[in-house]
Amino acid sequence: MTDKPAKPAVLAVDDDHEVLRAIERDLRRKYADHFRIVTSTSGREALGTLRELFARGDAVALLLVDQRMPHMAGTEFLCEARKLYPDAKRTLLTAYADTDAAIAAINEVQLDHYLRKPWDPPDEKLYPVLDDLLEEWVRNVHPPFQGIRVLGSRWSPQSFAAREFLARNQVPYQWVDIDEDAPSRELVRSLAGDSPRLPIVLFRDGGHLIAPANAALADKAGLHTLAKRPFYDVVIIGGGPAGLANAVYAATEGLHALLIEQNAPGGQFGASAMIENYLGFPSGVTGADLAQRAVAQAKRFGAEMLVGRHVSRVRREDPFRIVTLDDGSEVSCHAMVLATGMAVRELAVPGVSGLVGAGIYYGASMSEAALYREQHVAVLGGANSAGQGALFFARYAKSVSVLVRAPSLSPAMAKYLADRIEDAKNIEVCKGVEVVEARGDGHLEQLELRDVASGQARSMDVAALFVFIGVAPRTEQFAGFVELDEKGFIVTGPDLSRRKMAWPLERDPLMFETSVPGVFAAGDVRHGSIKRCASGVGEGSMSIAFVHHYLAG
Ligand SMILES: Cc1cc2nc3c(=O)[nH]c(=O)nc-3n(C[C@H](O)[C@H](O)[C@H](O)COP(=O)(O)OP(=O)(O)OC[C@H]3O[C@@H](n4cnc5c(N)ncnc54)[C@H](O)[C@@H]3O)c2cc1C
Repeated sequence: MTDKPAKPAVLAVDDDHEVLRAIERDLRRKYADHFRIVTSTSGREALGTLRELFARGDAVALLLVDQRMPHMAGTEFLCEARKLYPDAKRTLLTAYADTDAAIAAINEVQLDHYLRKPWDPPDEKLYPVLDDLLEEWVRNVHPPFQGIRVLGSRWSPQSFAAREFLARNQVPYQWVDIDEDAPSRELVRSLAGDSPRLPIVLFRDGGHLIAPANAALADKAGLHTLAKRPFYDVVIIGGGPAGLANAVYAATEGLHALLIEQNAPGGQFGASAMIENYLGFPSGVTGADLAQRAVAQAKRFGAEMLVGRHVSRVRREDPFRIVTLDDGSEVSCHAMVLATGMAVRELAVPGVSGLVGAGIYYGASMSEAALYREQHVAVLGGANSAGQGALFFARYAKSVSVLVRAPSLSPAMAKYLADRIEDAKNIEVCKGVEVVEARGDGHLEQLELRDVASGQARSMDVAALFVFIGVAPRTEQFAGFVELDEKGFIVTGPDLSRRKMAWPLERDPLMFETSVPGVFAAGDVRHGSIKRCASGVGEGSMSIAFVHHYLAG
């Protein structure tokens, strides 16, 4: 695979091999420096070639097609080709007897030119015509994007998930809404049938994936998804602030460290619009920026990082700790850090589940914000994350309604945020309300709200709802392995004995050590932790010191 953009193609089609060789020779002589000359001996074969070129994101400048071909006439081919490449110049090669067909095609397929065979000498009869057509094409047509393209529907949750995954992993891609782009719709139909699963992700090598899971998408996009070694000093599960700090400190201190992240590095804060209380960034920093810096730092020191890989199980086979990944593969280690953080709490009211990703989003979905330019959106929640989200969306949307159950924004929201929201001209705060239903045909259109005090209902038309109603620990796969508190958080260190929980060794558990020796927990997932970015980073860096202690013992 090369990153150099491919030259635009000139496609010649003729079933007569001798004629085709002559066309190819003449085209190469004049145009090979700037165009790729591609040939085909039938309309059907040529359509297959066009689909491949389209899937790779290659441009096609000119179609030069014989009219009289078995199975598919030139005009028929041009009709089909136009669906994929409406801007390609269309030229028909005709014999004298085909002149009528050529004239009809001028209207039917908006033919740009027809050329009589033979075209000798080409300097007089071929090149002047093609020069004009190609110059016009170069002047007017912008070459297509030549990277990963996501073909999907704005209202398909899987399309949203794929875009979010690529964006958060800093993979450049082009989004193509097939409801608004006929050539892409045509390609999707040819690749995946009439009611395809979306999205279809097209890659530069001509390959594609249909509604891919994170791991497959990460793999094909060239992200790191396979561990380089079977064994590490420490495996860190989760790439939020705690896990990333773990990785940086483990690597700087000479440990072979592997971090496994199911989505994209950054965790909850990766989705945060603006963190204003993080030390050293007086005018705030976006979660994405902070995550990117942390990843670069961890990699610079030699930490290995897998993305798009979910840890489905952990176990001990003393003296080793073993991690099972989503594809059943395993990685072993001396010590393990569980830094799986928290997941957003779902809004459990009628109509919501079917509209997630289709107008309803959990957290501040940066990749979606621009889609709601000049529209009315709602933000549900009254804490800091909702406040940050509302200010962020107010930059794009026409108006933002912040929906809060409480009678006021404070004290759940920091005063500086609440003040800014009250001052913003396009944000209204609807206090004392709750969402009781979401409605929409294929995408969110309306919310049913209820006044908490009076019980009175009213509806609100909205294009999108961004939900920030709290979080719960991600520990399902650790239940039965390490001790959890009643809310599912991992209990560590002195809290184990305080809560009279099982501990198998003579020595006391180390700080951040769970009920399984050599298995540590850090960040939001840990019982008693302060749920903040900086404290996640603090716990991540501190816990590595105790990993060292454990390894030395
Ligand atoms: C919208 C929003 C705004 C916020 N704003 C601020 C702020 O302004 N200031 C502040 O201090 N804090 C803020 N916070 C809180 C802060 O982001 C969290 O406290 C912090 O991210 C916790 O870090 P963590 O590493 O413990 O966990 P997380 O950030 O939750 O990261 C855990 C990671 O583990 C991964 N993971 C989970 N399970 C698995 C598995 N089985 N396999 C592989 N990977 C897994 C997840 O995908 C995730 O990336 C905000 C949070 C949100 C949601």
